[in-house]
Amino acid sequence: MLGLMQNWPLLQHKIIDHAAAQYGDQEVVTRSVEGPIHRTNYRQVRERALRVAQRLAKDGVKSGDRVATLAWNTWRHLEAWYGITGIGAVYHTINPRLFPEQIAWIANHAQDRLVLLDLTFVPLMEQVADKIPSVERYVILTDRAHMPATKLKNAVAYEDWIAEVDGDFKWAEFDENTAAGLCYTSGTTGDPKGVLYSHRSNVLHALQACMKDTLAVSATDSILPIVPMFHANAWSLAFSVPLAGAKFVMPGAKLDGASIYELLETEKVTFSAAVPTVWLMLMQNMQATGGKLTTLKRVAIGGSACPPSMIEYFEERGVNVHHAWGMTEMSPIGTIGAIKPAVSGLKGKELLDLKSKQGHAIFAVEMKITDDEGNRLPWDGKKFGRLKVRGPAISRRYFKREDEEILDSEGYFDTGDVATIDPNGYMQITDRAKDVIKSGGEWISSIDIENLAVGHPQVAEAAVIGVAHPKWDERPLLVVVAKEGAEPDRKTILSYMDGKIAKWWMPDDVQFVREIPHTATGKINKLKLRQEFKDYKLPSE
Ligand code: AMP
Repeated sequence: MLGLMQNWPLLQHKIIDHAAAQYGDQEVVTRSVEGPIHRTNYRQVRERALRVAQRLAKDGVKSGDRVATLAWNTWRHLEAWYGITGIGAVYHTINPRLFPEQIAWIANHAQDRLVLLDLTFVPLMEQVADKIPSVERYVILTDRAHMPATKLKNAVAYEDWIAEVDGDFKWAEFDENTAAGLCYTSGTTGDPKGVLYSHRSNVLHALQACMKDTLAVSATDSILPIVPMFHANAWSLAFSVPLAGAKFVMPGAKLDGASIYELLETEKVTFSAAVPTVWLMLMQNMQATGGKLTTLKRVAIGGSACPPSMIEYFEERGVNVHHAWGMTEMSPIGTIGAIKPAVSGLKGKELLDLKSKQGHAIFAVEMKITDDEGNRLPWDGKKFGRLKVRGPAISRRYFKREDEEILDSEGYFDTGDVATIDPNGYMQITDRAKDVIKSGGEWISSIDIENLAVGHPQVAEAAVIGVAHPKWDERPLLVVVAKEGAEPDRKTILSYMDGKIAKWWMPDDVQFVREIPHTATGKINKLKLRQEFKDYKLPSE
């Protein structure tokens, strides 16, 4: 027997409809790519998103067609996402930090019909446009006054493009399982893989994200998502912020410490989300200028492990840190470091240790850890295993690779991460499976050592890689970038770490470099780092 409730498909445009109906005057503020601060509201974002939908329909864009965006977080990008999906087409976010050949590969694989791009990326797109024959038109996200001279095919200013229709348009109605968004993983090996979100998965994930013990998004918040819309579905914030009716603040192209600090203060931001490298830039700026955070209450930090020293920095300033973990394939949030009753009594170092873990699974994410044969491992906080997940907003196949099985017999997706889970359900990532250091038959967590090393006052960034060793297979090498003006040596760093981790986890050596290589999503590129140190020999050999 079926239930007798209304069939109301979970479609993304219902979110912007709700925001416009209930919070129509709520502000949407952007540091525009052209320069000035731009202000609009949810009512206008919806009206203009309808124009985008109508304009795309006029161009013959149909349900399932891909429309690429190569853009910063701005109100126009937000309108574009809702407009594209409002006719059943698919927003395809391209990460501009990829190499031009990768961008061409991805756009060809996706068979994008249009590309909507910011002024910043016109020169980049001009380099690759003739390699992407599927694109019929380039829409520059600006107005006529700022329109550059460009040879991009059928280039038009976004404002002129949407002015060609009257906005008298209705969203299409379709099945909630219809594809909505496409985001390619930034795999360091092999071809990028397309993660294809649906309306249902995006709406469900937005609801999950709003929950008090997830991101606690509320209409009384002012929220600055620094995490770009081209990275991992913007941690759902393009959906959860309007869904909750919060003030939406967007940083445009300026992600440096000074610009972010200014926006946090002038727009009275209460909650923000970004990867650790962005927070590091903010911290360095505040240290240099003596800036204070007067409105910020909470931050979500994820994408890479958040070092305990960063958690301490924010919490000493009255800002609650939620360490989060997830991935593009998970829409992307998997776990968050909210406090459960069982651990609510923790204080000091114990609380910091708990907050340094990546947190517990949110509703509709089921987790397990297994050994290499797929046998479940206990949740004892000690045993490391492959972390696997299942849920309604988690990939079951990759785009155009539908014949490849990516789930195990129980329907779990292997995240490629290695983790422990403690008896209270708090998960801690120790490594990517391909980065774990195997020493004397045991695993050493490079993230633990890195977290400790960056706690040293003279260390700006640290990375640990395994180096071949005749007796132990591999031993850890610590690679360090010193803080500006500091000149730490091997001995001071090792003696700082001594006693804080197991003796056999202590790095065999420390090497100083000017820069550690990063991937397009800001993670340490260990593959490249290992290549850079391929001829290196440990002093003990
Ligand atoms: P992406 O799909 O680009 O978001 O990358 C997902 C991967 O980033 C995960 O599989 C993890 O390896 C890593 N990651 C994300 N969040 C964290 C975190 N809080 N701590 C450690 N690694 C993380």
